Amino acid sequence: MIFSFIKTEIKVVIGALLAGSAIGFLTGLWALAYASILVVVMIWFLTQIGRLHRWMNAGAQIDNTPRLFGASSKIVEQVCVIKQENEEQFERSRELIRRFEAATAAMPDAMLIVDNSFNIEWANEASKGILGIDAQKDAGRSVTNIVRDPVITNYLTRREFAQPLEFTSPRSEENDLVLRVISYGEVHSLMYVQDHMDVLRLQQVRKAFISNASHEMRTPLTVIIGYLETLMLRDDSPPEISRGITGALEQAHRLKELIEDLLSLSRLESLPLSQSNADVVDMLSLIRECIELVKASSIYNQQTFAIKVPDPALIRGDQTELMSAVQNVIDNAVKYSSANTRIVLEWRIDPTRGVFLSIQDYGEGVDKLHLSRLAERFYRVDKGRSRDMGGTGLGLSIVKHVMERHGGQVKIDSELGVGTQVELQFPPEILVSDEKREAG
Ligand code: ATP
Ligand code: MG
Repeated sequence: MIFSFIKTEIKVVIGALLAGSAIGFLTGLWALAYASILVVVMIWFLTQIGRLHRWMNAGAQIDNTPRLFGASSKIVEQVCVIKQENEEQFERSRELIRRFEAATAAMPDAMLIVDNSFNIEWANEASKGILGIDAQKDAGRSVTNIVRDPVITNYLTRREFAQPLEFTSPRSEENDLVLRVISYGEVHSLMYVQDHMDVLRLQQVRKAFISNASHEMRTPLTVIIGYLETLMLRDDSPPEISRGITGALEQAHRLKELIEDLLSLSRLESLPLSQSNADVVDMLSLIRECIELVKASSIYNQQTFAIKVPDPALIRGDQTELMSAVQNVIDNAVKYSSANTRIVLEWRIDPTRGVFLSIQDYGEGVDKLHLSRLAERFYRVDKGRSRDMGGTGLGLSIVKHVMERHGGQVKIDSELGVGTQVELQFPPEILVSDEKREAG
């Protein structure tokens, strides 16, 4: 490999040695002959290297290569190939950047690349209209110095970006914006600000529609149920008509339950959070009441309840909402477990993490792949089975909403064929301790 690279140089050296020998032979001055030839060869080599060096220093222009021989000319060729490849790569990157800039310029949302101290490195055009940030003028300045809004400053300094921040536009009070910060690499973050107006308006329209439609259906349905119940009381109806009336009444009751669930959900969504968290609720009596109700209902299948809850278990919350959440979870435990199994309700206090009410059943359980979706509206693992039980798939989403409104959350764990544990997790401040109760 190396020999082919310096083939010309080897030939020149051999030629020079032969020429030196010939001159030495003719003149008898061997040393002088070799020395002169060596000097000539050296000068040739140095000239080649000198030209190569000059060409490289002048930017190694592909269209202006020097006339060289041997290894030097091969070096020139290789440099040209590498340069050509680099230029193509560079052009491809430039094209990519051009396309990225065109795409971000067309975006209606503001996008910024910032460093660890939120100094702007790059911003798209929409940033100007939405946040008043000029990509050129404001490069290097901190976002918090340009958008002087304490809500944004607090959010950025807390550095907890799991949840996006909703805030009012600094430019127009009517616009609601949503800020997301996505960290990437060691020191960079992408800040993404979206105008939330349309999404919010759409959500409001959806909520209003569900709430109005449910309200409108409730009155005629109550009338229908009333008529059906009166008809049921008549003894003179033929058996097939009687059966029809019973079926219709069952379905009407199901529809009523669905409407009631939809109305509770839209109430939970529309009332501000501060209106709950008002009453002091004894969770033990609430649990006992829920158990009495489930025992009196048609879904009860002789399950036994073990209640490991202190007397009293006081928290601050909305009695009606908490009742509906606990009732939903207990109903599920009963509905989805077989006769004579145990249902264990346990209360646990962790002063730093919060208060937990777990409801464990030993029923059919669900496959883990469904767990993350159980609290979605209308999500039912086995639609047929749930429907037979009178289920609408709204129960757990009501539970989720109630828990969120109390600053907590619902955690579900389940194993197919083994059982399900639902844990209602409340924040520690919701607990009414004995001292607080006495002071109150
Ligand atoms: P609804 O509560 O509105 O009457 P539902 O019980 O079907 O109807 P959710 O309470 O939201 O609706 O529950 C959703 C689904 O989660 C259920 O259909 C069921 O498949 C599953 N599920 C909930 N709790 C349990 C449980 N304890 N054991 C097994 N599956 C459960
Ligand atoms: Mg349910």
